[in-house]
Amino acid sequence: MEDFNRNSGKTTIIAGPCAVESEEQMERVCSCLSSLGVKYLRGGCFKPRTKVNTFRGLGGDGLKIMHSAGNRYGMKIVTEVRDTAHLDIVAEYADIVQIGAKSMYDNDLLLACGELKKPIIIKRNFAATVKDVTNAVEFILSGGNDEVIICERGIRTFESNTRFTLDLCGVAWLKEHTDFPIIVDPSHAMGFRYGVADLARAAVAMGVEGLMVEVHPQPEKALSDSAQQLDLKMFGELYESLKPIVSAVNRKIN
Ligand code: PEP
Ligand code: MN
Repeated sequence: MEDFNRNSGKTTIIAGPCAVESEEQMERVCSCLSSLGVKYLRGGCFKPRTKVNTFRGLGGDGLKIMHSAGNRYGMKIVTEVRDTAHLDIVAEYADIVQIGAKSMYDNDLLLACGELKKPIIIKRNFAATVKDVTNAVEFILSGGNDEVIICERGIRTFESNTRFTLDLCGVAWLKEHTDFPIIVDPSHAMGFRYGVADLARAAVAMGVEGLMVEVHPQPEKALSDSAQQLDLKMFGELYESLKPIVSAVNRKIN
């Protein structure tokens, strides 16, 4: 959690595929990310989906794949919990537990995460005001867990040509009115590979505590969020391009 503290002076990168799909996929992702210096690996195993009959993740098997890949490369695990029924197993494998945008209003899940002794990333729901987010955070805090990281991942606006609209004003508001670490997910906001790097650079220029970016060895074959995931080469280029921006805002890439 220290990596994300407001006074850490770090911009911490969390990267990995939308969903854990196979051992081979995770091996390829981890070997690339760790060679760059990325320390936090993301990947969904219990996926909330918009449409039925789509890939919902490998569940516990996915957690095991992710954990062993993370271990081999010394990377920390960030993964989503969408149901209190899975909380024990997710907490067993995750270093940071993610509450997805669609679960931001799930009181029981928030309260259960408040009982954990692990950092929680809470993603802003796409129809939530920044106040709604801080209200949701209160549910986590009420259980005694104050290790909360807020993630802006795009909100729904009249604009339908991009998947969502990244709310950088909301990021500025959260920086000003809360003490929580703020991270930005440009991947779900944009919904398309072509804009992700630009949004990532814009967010980092705001001096946020971190980024969460979707990366897949073969995005066109991804079982979820295929259009928005960066391939390994694109991610490597993005990572390099972040370095001067991170230092321009007096931080260190982590
Ligand atoms: C995710 O990060 O895997 C995800 C599903 O994103 P969101 O909750 O922001 O939709
Ligand atoms: Mn995704």
